[in-house]
Amino acid sequence: MLSRRAFCNCASLALFAAASGKAHAAVGECAVLTPALQKSVSPADAIARLQAGNTRFSSGKTINCDLMQQVKETAAAQAPFAAVVGCIDSRVPPELVFDQRIGDIFCARVAGNFINNDIIGSLEFATKVSGARAIVVLGHNDCGAIKGAVDHVKLGHLTAMLTNIAPAVVSTRTSGDRNSKNAAFV
Ligand SMILES: [Zn+2]
Repeated sequence: MLSRRAFCNCASLALFAAASGKAHAAVGECAVLTPALQKSVSPADAIARLQAGNTRFSSGKTINCDLMQQVKETAAAQAPFAAVVGCIDSRVPPELVFDQRIGDIFCARVAGNFINNDIIGSLEFATKVSGARAIVVLGHNDCGAIKGAVDHVKLGHLTAMLTNIAPAVVSTRTSGDRNSKNAAFV
C-alpha cells in the first residue's frame, strides 16, 4: 500500500487521473504509467507495488478499471514499472495475482519460469530499453514443469526445454526420493 500511496502523491499523476475521469476505482488507481511516473518508482517501490496488488488479489479487493480506456491511453507508448518471469501455468497469471492491468508490467512466461537467452533478452528490452524498475521471478507450488524436470520426462520439444531446469534439480538436496512424489523436493 505504501508504494501506491507514494504513487498517488505524485501531483502530475493526480492531474492525469482527474483528467481521465475513471468510474470504477479511486482517483489515480487506473492511471496508466508515463515514462516520468515510471522513473519516479524505485525498484523497492516496484516490488512493494506488486506486493500490495497481491494483497488486494488475495483479499478479493482487486481494482476495477476501464481496460479499453487503458488500451487507448497506452496505444502510443508504454512505461511498465516491472517485469515478471512466470510459469505458463493457468493458475498463476501475473497480471491477475498481482492485480495489474494494461501497461503495468511486462510478463515473460515459460513452463518452469527459468531464464535462457531469449528470456534474458526480453528482460533487457523490458528494463534497459523500456525502463521497467524491477524484475520478479514468480515461481509457484505444484509446478508441472518442475515435476517433469525432476522425473526426467522425455516428450518432444519438452525434453530439451526441461534441460534448462535440470541444473537446479541437480543442485537441490533432499533426504527423500528424488522424484515428483517428494513434494518438498519439488
Ligand atoms: Zn509451473
